[in-house]
Amino acid sequence: MHQLLALQIKKHLSSDKGLTPELQGLLAEVDRHYQETEQVRRKLDLSLNFQKKELADAMLQASRDYALLRGVMDIIPDVLFFKSADGSYLGFNKVYEKVLNRPASQMLGKTDFDVLDETVAQDLHDLDQAVMNSGKDHVTERWFHQGDPQKQVCLEILHSPFCGPDGQVLGLIGYGRNITARKLAEETVRRQANFDSLTGLANRSNFTQRLNHEMRVAKRSGMAVALLLINLDRFKQVNDLLGHEAGDALLTQAAQRIASSVRETDAVARLGADEFAVVIPDIEQLAHIGNVAKKLVARLAESFVLGEESTQVTASIGVSLYPVDGNDPDGLLKSAEQAMYHAKATGRNRYCHFTPALQEVATRRRQLLRDLPQVIETGQLYVCYQPIASLATGEVHKAEALVRWRHPDHGNISPADFIPLAEDSGAIMAIGNFVFHEAARLTQQMRATGNPHFQVSVNMSPAQFRGKTDLIPQWMGLLDSLSLPGDAVAIEITEGLLMQVKDSTKLRLEEMRKFGIKISLDDFGTGYSSLSYLKMLDIDYLKVDQSFVRDLEIDPDDRTLCEAMIVMAHKLGLKVVAEGIETQAQLDLLVNAGCDFGQGYLFSKPLPAKDFTDYMLRMSGQARNDLGS
Ligand code: C2E
Ligand code: MG
Ligand code: MG
Repeated sequence: MHQLLALQIKKHLSSDKGLTPELQGLLAEVDRHYQETEQVRRKLDLSLNFQKKELADAMLQASRDYALLRGVMDIIPDVLFFKSADGSYLGFNKVYEKVLNRPASQMLGKTDFDVLDETVAQDLHDLDQAVMNSGKDHVTERWFHQGDPQKQVCLEILHSPFCGPDGQVLGLIGYGRNITARKLAEETVRRQANFDSLTGLANRSNFTQRLNHEMRVAKRSGMAVALLLINLDRFKQVNDLLGHEAGDALLTQAAQRIASSVRETDAVARLGADEFAVVIPDIEQLAHIGNVAKKLVARLAESFVLGEESTQVTASIGVSLYPVDGNDPDGLLKSAEQAMYHAKATGRNRYCHFTPALQEVATRRRQLLRDLPQVIETGQLYVCYQPIASLATGEVHKAEALVRWRHPDHGNISPADFIPLAEDSGAIMAIGNFVFHEAARLTQQMRATGNPHFQVSVNMSPAQFRGKTDLIPQWMGLLDSLSLPGDAVAIEITEGLLMQVKDSTKLRLEEMRKFGIKISLDDFGTGYSSLSYLKMLDIDYLKVDQSFVRDLEIDPDDRTLCEAMIVMAHKLGLKVVAEGIETQAQLDLLVNAGCDFGQGYLFSKPLPAKDFTDYMLRMSGQARNDLGS
């Protein structure tokens, strides 16, 4: 290069004699500079090449580091993400992509506002900003469900700022742990502690807290609080006859009906098997409570569809009021319970308000329940027999066995009062056996003393059908030992039992019929029997309930109904027994209507065994006299 320059200088000076010493010096200087520059250039080249290599190495290293970082990020089971100071995503791992259910391409460089619901995004944005401004870590718990509520994930996220070498905050690192399982377990524990697992309603302890709270509020405000205790009538029957699954379905539906019949501010709970409660705060008018209770009774009496079957139960509701009927949750509940028992005792399918008189009833009930298990061994139980006369001949070849309890403190207690208690407590099995044994012995005696066709009717509770399966063979064994045929006995069942005709009921009835035992349908007309049951179950006798007989003389509707029942029963091949005949006029009307048998005070009240045998002797004597005259 410098030679080129010398040539040009020579040319420029148009001389070939050579250069002047100055020029030569200058050229030497230029040449030296050139050499130096060349050296620098070479050095620079060298350094550049070196730097290029370093850069390439560094880039290689960086990409290796990044791959390693990604590998680490993706291998950890927790969520990891980085955001810039403006909130846009710089990076994240696969777990985070999965949680948000978004591909990376839709998230990189985007903010939460592009990825999440607006409210969640705003919330996170505010939090991120606070963390970056304060420079302090923050831990938060958050539920994510991108589109599918079934796939909810709860993350415990550590939001941590990250800074450059100068300490300036550059962005934020998020590290989230999936705590869904723990949260769900906590929720389950909370629900189990506070809610009934079948119906989802509040449970007893949750309910007591709520009742306590409402009572405290009412104390300050001077308002009243009502407690409605709801008990399903004959739920046990549905459970036993249709199975537990059907029972559960019924309870769930009942819970829904109750909850949808009250205001959202009222508390609804399930306190026990078939027992529910409603707390109604801020009562201004008592009439409101009556209306709610009426509505609940009506809703629960509607039929329940349980899979293939449909069934009906009713409800008995007891109402108590704070502060008049109880000062604390326990007291208020007790009062409501007493009112509920009263509703049951007076016919079920109704509601009753608590009154102080019910307190006595409740105390008596408790005492009876306490004494029931010993009732047989203490000799307090005995059986009365009420004659059943043939209306065509006036002869008595049948009687109904009716159990009696002579209580040392309470005197004679009606079976209508204690049989339901015995059904609830299970004592009915022993009582039923006792009555059957007594009745069978009397029948043997009657048959042996001039009444060879004597037949006794024994009432049987649905609870006995649900009990031990070898009951019928046992009873047959007893009849056998007394040399009595099956038709020495008729079993009286109620329409309630037929309400749910299950195979097991049918089988038991068929088993009885196989042994010759007659079946009698008691209290006909008061329940829900359908005619098809009568046919299907081979009933022998239909007992028209005394409520139809009572007003026969004055109520033409009852007369029509009685006549219709008799005609219908005869068409189906059944004999009819009219219950509760008290007057000659009633008897005449029934005889005219073609009724087969009659039972009632007109013939005789139920009599203890000794009095009954005397009665029968008198009757046969009278018949002999009639024949003689
Ligand atoms: P039920 O089987 O319908 O019995 C007829 C009821 O009517 C009896 O009441 C009887 O005393 C009463 N009665 C009979 N004739 C007349 C009348 O002319 N006028 C009036 N007003 N009443 C009359 P009781 O003995 O109090 O029995 C009530 C219910 O208790 C029975 O009704 C029956 O369902 C049940 N029961 C009685 N004994 C037993 C038993 O041993 N086992 C079961 N499971 N239930 C029983
Ligand atoms: Mg009866
Ligand atoms: Mg009856």
